[in-house]
Amino acid sequence: MEHELQSLDREARQQLAGITEISQLEDFRIRFLGRKGQFSTILRQLGTVSDTDRPRLGQMANSIKKEIEELFESRQEAIRQAAATAAEPASLPDLSLPGRVQAAGRLHPVTQIMQEICTIFENLGFSVAEGPDVELDYYNFEALNIPPHHPARDMHDTFYVSDSILLRTHTSPMQARIMENSQPPLRVIAPGKVYRCDSDITHTPMFHQVEGFLVDRNVSFADLKGVLTVFTQKMFERDLPLRFRPSFFPFTEPSAEVDIACVICGGTGCRVCKKSGWLEILGSGMIDPEVFRMVGYDPEVFSGFAFGLGVERIAMLKYGIDDIRLYYENDQRFLSQF
Ligand SMILES: [Zn+2]
Repeated sequence: MEHELQSLDREARQQLAGITEISQLEDFRIRFLGRKGQFSTILRQLGTVSDTDRPRLGQMANSIKKEIEELFESRQEAIRQAAATAAEPASLPDLSLPGRVQAAGRLHPVTQIMQEICTIFENLGFSVAEGPDVELDYYNFEALNIPPHHPARDMHDTFYVSDSILLRTHTSPMQARIMENSQPPLRVIAPGKVYRCDSDITHTPMFHQVEGFLVDRNVSFADLKGVLTVFTQKMFERDLPLRFRPSFFPFTEPSAEVDIACVICGGTGCRVCKKSGWLEILGSGMIDPEVFRMVGYDPEVFSGFAFGLGVERIAMLKYGIDDIRLYYENDQRFLSQF
């Protein structure tokens, strides 16, 4: 009987160690520890052993049973805890995890600069007008004193839709479109897309311009200089020197290209300004009397100035970007910086 007890002890310990699920625990309890279990069966046999062996065997049987009961309980507790831990992630979110950020949309940097330019001129009393991207040859060229076969047409790298229809190469057609339908005084800016068959680090086939013009009696070149000085001060948030260089445009006379002191080096000379200390930012001039005649204004009575600036160019200078194509590659890492 002693031998039987020892082998039962071994078997029970072995079985218990192999238990991993709650359902197995109950089977084990019935088989070993229940009223009809193996320990009870052995204890009942105590009546058949001799009086001298009975107390020793009884004590041994009881202490083995007690040990197995204790092992059973601790095993039961461990399995319940493991089950509870395993169930946790499904029922409770981990509040210490960082949240998922929704990517917010934002305005394209060129759009932002265009809006900034418009705001500056609106504060100076200019109104904003928009016109068609697909334009008549007449408004893009002829009404601006660029008749057919004029050599200035070669500079425009035009996308033609048909002989008389094209994608506008500048926003200047808006001068003719607005002037032929209204009378001075006029203060207008016309922002929009323009198209030229050209692509390199400073040119894209589509880019943005803002055209501006002012027509009234006694408008002089000094008025043009004053308006552009205020504009560059506001745009670049500092008092940058301006330089007017004589130039030629068929629809202005006299004409000037306008440079600002280099925003990168402050005028001492760097790679961006090609060591000159100056950066070209726009073209301008006094509106040619021939343009006034085309829209029915008397050039002896009215005078005015016009200017056109490249929005990407301004954005590149303001943000210190040296490749215009970055604006149109749709790279979120680049665009989200603005
Ligand atoms: Zn410079």
